[in-house]
Amino acid sequence: MNHEFDAIAKLFQQRTPLQHPTTRIGNGDDASTHEIPQGFELVISTDTAVQGVHWPHNMGLDIAGNRAIQAALSDLAAMGAKPAWLWLSIMATNEHDLQQMSHGIVQACQQQAVELAGGDTVTSPTNAINVTVGGLIQKNKAMRRNNAVIDDDVWLFGDVGLSAAGLNQWLDGEHDGTFVPHFQDILPQLEQSQSLIDLAIKCCIDISDGLLQDAGHIAKASQVGIIINIENIKLLPSYAKLQHLGDEQVLKHILSGGEDYALLFTAPAKHQLTLSQLGAFKLGHCAQGSSVHLCYDGKTIDYNIKGFDHFA
Ligand code: ADP
Ligand code: MG
Repeated sequence: MNHEFDAIAKLFQQRTPLQHPTTRIGNGDDASTHEIPQGFELVISTDTAVQGVHWPHNMGLDIAGNRAIQAALSDLAAMGAKPAWLWLSIMATNEHDLQQMSHGIVQACQQQAVELAGGDTVTSPTNAINVTVGGLIQKNKAMRRNNAVIDDDVWLFGDVGLSAAGLNQWLDGEHDGTFVPHFQDILPQLEQSQSLIDLAIKCCIDISDGLLQDAGHIAKASQVGIIINIENIKLLPSYAKLQHLGDEQVLKHILSGGEDYALLFTAPAKHQLTLSQLGAFKLGHCAQGSSVHLCYDGKTIDYNIKGFDHFA
């Protein structure tokens, strides 16, 4: 028996038997094939996580595997798609590390009921995971960054700042810190995303690089100004939870901390009540302009802490 194929079968294929109803040829051939149901569009996204860049060297590789899958699925949530399949390219320094990463990957596939439709397994000087996710959405329903319009309200599903606080705790050696799980256990807002589709919301992004930076993507793509009220920021659960860090640090975490995978979206004012009842937080509104502004007590305030930039 070939050792490599044996390991792939044992670590991945046998533990992920789930097949999406659209799948014709599943895992095990040179490629997988899938039918696109009438009236639907295919939604695809790819994401890479590298040890020492996207997760600390001393963090469990099972956790890294789980995070990689959940973070990739968050891009489908941002578009409003329902996840169906994923394809995995895994780079492992040795078989033990491969095994560890596989545990978290399989766990995430099972938890989110997504089919592992194929992959590639290679040795590498660094552990890394590339995940391509595929999902389905009804034709012309996908939420986009360029669909915000003036007078829309700006909303958040999920919370921001806690993941950054958790990563800081981990890097400070507080491995059992209260915020660490917010960094380690990502939960993409998939159900909330379907609520947005039901309301015919048109503009959404998931926050991976920080609230201000990702809001800036909507502002630029939609050519609207995005006004975020500090008064609203102070009502977020994370604001109270992080209060012990002091005002400046709390704001920095909330406005620029990445990787909470919350959804930032814009909606016409008529949805205010429904969105509040669904547990979304209103952050501000869209106005003329093409960038993000923070507002406090009716006045614009200066703030220039940037989100994460790989090439800064
Ligand atoms: P090929 O040489 O045709 O590219 P591989 O030898 O890389 O195929 O993989 C054999 C089979 O195992 C393929 O069907 C592939 O999709 C699947 N596979 C490989 N690695 C993984 C993985 N990490 N997770 C899931 N399936 C995998
Ligand atoms: Mg082949």
